[in-house]
Amino acid sequence: MAVTERESVVVDQVSKQLFMGGQWRDASTGRTFAVEDPSTGRTLCEVADAGEADARAALDIAAATQDSWAKYPPRQRGEILSRAYDLLLERQDDLALLMTLEMGKPLAEAKGEIAYSAEFFRWFAEEAVRIDGGYSVAPNGQSRFLLMRQPVGPCLLITPWNFPMAMGTRKIGPAVAAGCTMVLKPAQQTPLSALALADILREAGLPEGVLSVLPTTSAGEVSEPLIKDGRIRKLSFTGSTAVGRLLLGQASEKVLRTSMELGGNAPFLVFEDADLDAAVEGAMQAKMRNIGEACTAANRIYVHSSVAEEFSTRLSARMGALTVGRGTEDGVQVGPLIDSAALDKVQGLVDDAVERGARVLVGGERGDGDGYYYRPTVLADVQPSSKLSTTEIFGPVAPVLTFDSEEEAITLANDTEFGLVSYVFTQDLARSLRVSEALETGMVGLNQGVVSNPAAPFGGVKQSGLGREGGRVGIDEFLDLKYVGIGNV
Ligand code: NAP
Repeated sequence: MAVTERESVVVDQVSKQLFMGGQWRDASTGRTFAVEDPSTGRTLCEVADAGEADARAALDIAAATQDSWAKYPPRQRGEILSRAYDLLLERQDDLALLMTLEMGKPLAEAKGEIAYSAEFFRWFAEEAVRIDGGYSVAPNGQSRFLLMRQPVGPCLLITPWNFPMAMGTRKIGPAVAAGCTMVLKPAQQTPLSALALADILREAGLPEGVLSVLPTTSAGEVSEPLIKDGRIRKLSFTGSTAVGRLLLGQASEKVLRTSMELGGNAPFLVFEDADLDAAVEGAMQAKMRNIGEACTAANRIYVHSSVAEEFSTRLSARMGALTVGRGTEDGVQVGPLIDSAALDKVQGLVDDAVERGARVLVGGERGDGDGYYYRPTVLADVQPSSKLSTTEIFGPVAPVLTFDSEEEAITLANDTEFGLVSYVFTQDLARSLRVSEALETGMVGLNQGVVSNPAAPFGGVKQSGLGREGGRVGIDEFLDLKYVGIGNV
């Protein structure tokens, strides 16, 4: 149940059925499942629960629609995205409230995510008409090379709960621009934003059958038959590394194109020559965006020992001053974690670090109320052996560790299986470049705590994933390159 009348209206106006072939349908299972408000633990509404038969039906639709959609004029594909961009911004307030209700992030951040989500549509509306190819003369002069870029075909898109709208538009935008049909499986905990997005795309003129949206409590039952069917040609997944590995295994059977946006364990390096004000501000952004529940979240903050105490004191003051509460309330800066398991995990990681010698400078405990609140926490003297050094914390906990040399900082930063993003704060240009080159991550925030931008290529190396989303290369993930060799010229 929503708490206020406006919350009820916003939840009521979203369809709770499956979206397939441009229509809203009940699930073939006959089942529904509850969507919970993490700030109260109460049920917001029930949503249709797709099963394998729905997945197969959605794939039939995607496969049947692929040819006609691929032939749709690129300008018109772009215009659909442009209209959807406008609609997202027109309805920003309602969509933000919906997101806050199902996911917990404060309203201001949810509004920010709607704007960020819309930007993917604007960016890829512009890219839709820039899909080009090539023509060249073979080195021996006897033939010609014609290069064409074509849609990969029907795609399966799987998204997580932490950015319920943006992780959808980051995949749907380039897929629409490229001319691919799609089946989207949103996260179980946040299906409402995805269903609202489907309705916006329908209203923006997306032809029937291009997109299906299948909320489900049986992720594997819905996705595995599609991955192994052969008609799906691309799997684009955002989520944990553990599930990504499993899906890569499944995708190998039909040798699918894959994009894998997986987990992170971001190091945040503060050198002795850093502007400490900027470093503290950057740490607040890199740690606290999305309640710490971001793949880009600063997970290990390494500070040069000569400035560690001052940095930790300033960071603790900022973290301790944050207002924790229900994301819908004015002034709240930190909402609840997604569920009780997330809360237990964060508390367990803090307890483990403290047992190994860490000092709690601020926080270190659950917040008040029925929701899954955890207080913003700063830990000093964290030992590298602590579990949170190797585990994605996914909560508002900032562990501060120290280093004494640039070489040591780089070694510590790279000592992880993950490689999504790292952050570096220094005012020395040569060091900036040296360290950026040495860090084994797909992205580096240099004197800034946020790297996400629809116009930049987002993605990781090592076990943080494969491929890039956004930027000029984002559309390539949904295109195949064909070479035609022309003889007798
Ligand atoms: P998750 O547990 O891996 O789930 C992600 C998605 O995969 C959900 O839709 C989930 O469905 C689905 N899924 C789970 N098991 C599956 C299976 N056996 N077969 C097919 N699909 C399956 O991750 P999460 O907890 O939602 O999200 C947090 C993780 O995502 C973190 O590790 C974070 O770093 C990562 N992330 C990465 C990026 C990036 O761009 N690199 C961005 C955001 C988040 P259910 O909801 O039904 O479980």
